Amino acid sequence: MSATALEQRYSARNYQPLSVELTRGEGVHLWDTDGRRYTDMMSAYSAVSFGHGHPALVAALTAQAARLAVTSRAFYTDRLGPFLERLCAVTRMDRALPMNTGAEAVETAVKACRKWAYRVKGVPADRAEIIVCAGNFAGRTTTIVGFSSEAQYRDGFGPFAPGFRQVPFGNADALERAIGPGTAAFIVEPVQGEAGIIVPPPGYLAACAAICRRHDVLLVLDEVQTGLGRTGRLLAGDHDGVRPDGLTLGKALGGGLLPVSAFLARSDVMDVFAPGDHGSTFGGNPLAAAVGHAALDVLVRERLSENAAAMGERLAAGLRAIDCSAISAIRGQGLLIGVEFDPSTVSARNVCERLMAAGILSNDTHDTVVRFAPPLTISAAQVDEALVAIRRTFEALPRRRTEPLAA
Ligand SMILES: *Cc1c(COP(=O)(O)O)cnc(C)c1O
Repeated sequence: MSATALEQRYSARNYQPLSVELTRGEGVHLWDTDGRRYTDMMSAYSAVSFGHGHPALVAALTAQAARLAVTSRAFYTDRLGPFLERLCAVTRMDRALPMNTGAEAVETAVKACRKWAYRVKGVPADRAEIIVCAGNFAGRTTTIVGFSSEAQYRDGFGPFAPGFRQVPFGNADALERAIGPGTAAFIVEPVQGEAGIIVPPPGYLAACAAICRRHDVLLVLDEVQTGLGRTGRLLAGDHDGVRPDGLTLGKALGGGLLPVSAFLARSDVMDVFAPGDHGSTFGGNPLAAAVGHAALDVLVRERLSENAAAMGERLAAGLRAIDCSAISAIRGQGLLIGVEFDPSTVSARNVCERLMAAGILSNDTHDTVVRFAPPLTISAAQVDEALVAIRRTFEALPRRRTEPLAA
């Protein structure tokens, strides 16, 4: 059986990959087992922001793997401290709690905010409430899908943890109205990635920050997807000049090689954790710390935030110049761009299959949106080359829907 057939036979059916079998990657390119080359316009949901097999990151990984990889946090290592110092300097936060996946970083944020509410704000036991936005995506743990508004993420997985309240995304007045005496925190993505690359109105985050300060509520930015240069600034909150009380990072932090995440916060928030309160067997291991440290160095040294801003503008302008009546909206920030298709014309999945045939790999979100989020290392020539294939594909789309509509 082929590797694809084996995956179909033995894997749980929680994914439905496009029919391509990848075997190698380098920079912005991927190759399949037939030797065909593709441009990666998805970057593993921003985890591969530095491109595939970045030499400096692979060198950091292999050198550290040979020296010392995993020790647990029962001991100090020569790698974790320097990594966290760099991470705090780059993000201008006081302290960091290293985890592995984005969901764990968000879970850590939830724990920190609740404990802060009881210990510092004086909320009565078990009454802390966290406000989240409709359309949020923060991972797949039961607590996190419990505060999702997406029916499929929740269906069959309850009962869910109480203590969350939803407000519409992009509406600061709704946030202020939802705040009550037990409100601990507002956790929000600066741009909603999985919801379909939804960019809030300018000034939204700054307004939320002011409201949170006024009501003694912690503002936590979930920058697992938007952080580390993706939107054209180091953090997406920088577009609004917002410094949050807490911050979650993941995806790109692992350099496209390992799962590395963190919750960062001001000292007075992070200080609610005492030894034994929280932890992770793999969180902060020397291998992850070495790769995360190297990833931050690459981000700064190669000026990738600036490149994301410039290439994002170039890609968005090129997409807007395509004459295609099936497109109903193009939106984004930096190199996080969504193209929305009129569902009466074509499904986003069908567009992704056509793009794949033209040598462009991406994926759809919410049936109607195709995302364009290449590695931040992409060059102008590579953007232009991808645009030729995208234009050819979009211009050949059907004018009326021929596939069945999803149920
Ligand atoms: C992907 C994502 C997460 C979850 O990260 P995992 O590593 O998949 O657990 C959390 N928040 C946001 C905004 C994300 O995009």
